[in-house]
Amino acid sequence: MNASEDFDTIPQDQPGTAEPDFEEKPKRQPPKTQARQKNDPAGNPFTFWRGMQTTLAVAFVVATLFTLWTPGSLVESSLEARMAQALQSASSDLPAIAEATAESAISPLPSNIGIVAGHYGYDSGAVCSNGATEAELNLEIATLVQKKLTDLGYTVDLLEEFDDRLEGYRASMLLSIHLDSCQYINDQATGFKVAAALSDQNAAASQKLTSCISEQYGETTGLAYHAGSVTDDMTYYHAFSEIDGRTPAAIIEAGFLNMDYRFITEDTERIADGIVAGLLCFLNN
Ligand SMILES: [Zn+2]
Repeated sequence: MNASEDFDTIPQDQPGTAEPDFEEKPKRQPPKTQARQKNDPAGNPFTFWRGMQTTLAVAFVVATLFTLWTPGSLVESSLEARMAQALQSASSDLPAIAEATAESAISPLPSNIGIVAGHYGYDSGAVCSNGATEAELNLEIATLVQKKLTDLGYTVDLLEEFDDRLEGYRASMLLSIHLDSCQYINDQATGFKVAAALSDQNAAASQKLTSCISEQYGETTGLAYHAGSVTDDMTYYHAFSEIDGRTPAAIIEAGFLNMDYRFITEDTERIADGIVAGLLCFLNN
């Protein structure tokens, strides 16, 4: 029942009995096969050999094409395309990979300067009894620093504490400006401190930046360096691990909001001048 129905659905071919006939015939020598091909073009042996030929031919062509294209020219041309896009470098005698690697390693950092106004856009930071917040004072100092550097012809990015731009941030330097506690700690809780970012790539430059700021800021403001109170919050400052590893970076606690409050709020220009002097020391060395 099933067999006859199946054959009925095949309109173009031989009667249903033809196929079983071929299958049952035992002899498979080439002459017989050729004879069958003539008699029965749609038969299995013909299809099998044609299929084999076609498959082998296609396989040969594909193999040839892969041999011609794959190892060298495909890889090379895609790298060249990427180079052209990324580096806009039209001609080179060096191998593509070496060129691309060397280019990314030596590409200079941009000349802009990043200034983070501590806590800005995130929280208040320290809050004093009169309602003054560290965040607003940090922003006031950072804005003054930005203005002074802009007046000198520099491009300054004024950044929030958790600014989106910090991820992979590239600049000639990054400085985050903070102020210390409003609480009375002891009579020695006065002055400033600076900590450097210590990634493998920027450690030396960040140390140099830190030295410049420490020296110039102390000289300009007359504030003492508050040795021994650099905290993990400074050393492991979050932005240090977000920025491009080559951007020199440091964080300053520019004064204590308790004992240095009047100086910070009444002589803010000098605070900013001290920071600018430190940044210029780094830039000009
Ligand atoms: Zn802070």
